[in-house]
Amino acid sequence: MNRFNLVALYVRVSTDKQVTEGYSLEAQETVLRDKAISDGKVVYKVYSDAGLSGAKTDRPGLVELLKDAERGLFGSVYVWSIDRVARKLRYLWGVIERLIQADVGFLSVNENIDISTQEGKFLLGFMGSIAQNQRDTIRKNCMLGSRKKAQAGKVVGGNILGYKRVLDEDDPQGGTKLVIEEKEAGVVRKIFDLYCSGYGLKATASKVNAIGMRSKNGKKFSLTTIRTILTNKAYIGMVKYGGEYFQGIHEPIIERDVWDKAQSLLKSKGRYSKIVPYKYMLSGLIKCPICGWGMLPTHAKRINKDGSINYNYYYTCGQYMNKGVGSCTSNVVKAQEADTTVIDFLTGYLSNDGWKNAVLSEIRKKFSADSEIVADVKHRKSDLEMLKAKRRSVLLRYEDGDLDREDFLKEFAGIKIKIEQAEKELKTLEEQAAVPNYNEADVIAAFGKLPALIKRASEDKKLKLLHSVVKAVFVNSDRKVSMVEVYLPTLKTGGVQQTLIINLESGD
Ligand SMILES: [Zn+2]
Repeated sequence: MNRFNLVALYVRVSTDKQVTEGYSLEAQETVLRDKAISDGKVVYKVYSDAGLSGAKTDRPGLVELLKDAERGLFGSVYVWSIDRVARKLRYLWGVIERLIQADVGFLSVNENIDISTQEGKFLLGFMGSIAQNQRDTIRKNCMLGSRKKAQAGKVVGGNILGYKRVLDEDDPQGGTKLVIEEKEAGVVRKIFDLYCSGYGLKATASKVNAIGMRSKNGKKFSLTTIRTILTNKAYIGMVKYGGEYFQGIHEPIIERDVWDKAQSLLKSKGRYSKIVPYKYMLSGLIKCPICGWGMLPTHAKRINKDGSINYNYYYTCGQYMNKGVGSCTSNVVKAQEADTTVIDFLTGYLSNDGWKNAVLSEIRKKFSADSEIVADVKHRKSDLEMLKAKRRSVLLRYEDGDLDREDFLKEFAGIKIKIEQAEKELKTLEEQAAVPNYNEADVIAAFGKLPALIKRASEDKKLKLLHSVVKAVFVNSDRKVSMVEVYLPTLKTGGVQQTLIINLESGD
């Protein structure tokens, strides 16, 4: 049978998510089999991974599937949803690229993305563009060596305010150890003193900043850095590694009872850990209208006479939240209103001709710039050939005795430098010019699909989608959303993502 009629199904559950997401392996398989039948395809094999954490990339089922794809055993792969393949988009791209290389199609039923079409490739590129923008924390694998170090009481990794790192004479392997740096230790003690005497995190930061104290790298303290300091067990002589604590060999800076008091205060004031019944859509995107810092989600709680609770949700200037009075003002923006405006914008954005044309013209500009680069590359290649011909002729002239040794060496060296320079510049340009081509019809078709995707999406997916399309949200002096910066769609998986700012107040 022609391999293009054969389809591989890939199903996956992670045990922790199975209950909440409700899509068992059987359910996924059923959906995919139905789809294969309705497409007139024959199921080659069902590949599955069960019970493995979503973060793990070494999934035996997926690995086998990719190997078989590369052996040409089937023509396409069906999955229920792209997040079945990988939560990490960078990894998803790796998989998709291998399938494309093997000339194997890829269809995600839930999102209705078919990679065998240009439109599907483009749409994935749109969503995949978050890959390098999303600050997904990559947990470094615990290394045995580091754990051993921690067990031996040595602090692993970065610098700690209050200590300096010196060579450890007792270590035959030439390792380092921490010793107290008195001036910095004074700052640490001051922070604990202030906090334990009733100052809040923000007030503590403001106070130490005001008296000129600075962090290890000379920066002002923020609410976050103060909290990090207050919870760092290194100050009571402990060493942390991989979630475990070991007795350190360094000298503590903070007394145990002071430490305990700070911890209980942190716990009693721990409003940051409280969960509010609202999903903030614009965290990390919305910018303070005064200072331009990212704004943070905050809320106000009011208990009504009948005991019910009313919440108001806001975004508040992150600089103000972190550094306190004097840095900026709160500049609160109503969260629900801002979120709705941006979601509505997003839904309308791709069907609004004005905005669509703005995006398309930006893409056109980009492409004409690219074709200029291509022309430039051609030019420079022929220049380089001429330089090389010149080098040959200098050599010949020297061999024929038309040049003396001194002149030859001078000329030859001069050409050599020029050639090296030209080769370097050419390489840079060629990298820039390596942009895959796509036509506007594909772009427009893909645009058309996004509103429906947004409408159907769960809150979580909406959030992901929003963050994949929008880079920043700006509010005006009335604290209303006025401009949205969107990523331009791309098929490129590396490099800097281009953006376009769309003014919501311009009225088109
Ligand atoms: Zn601000």
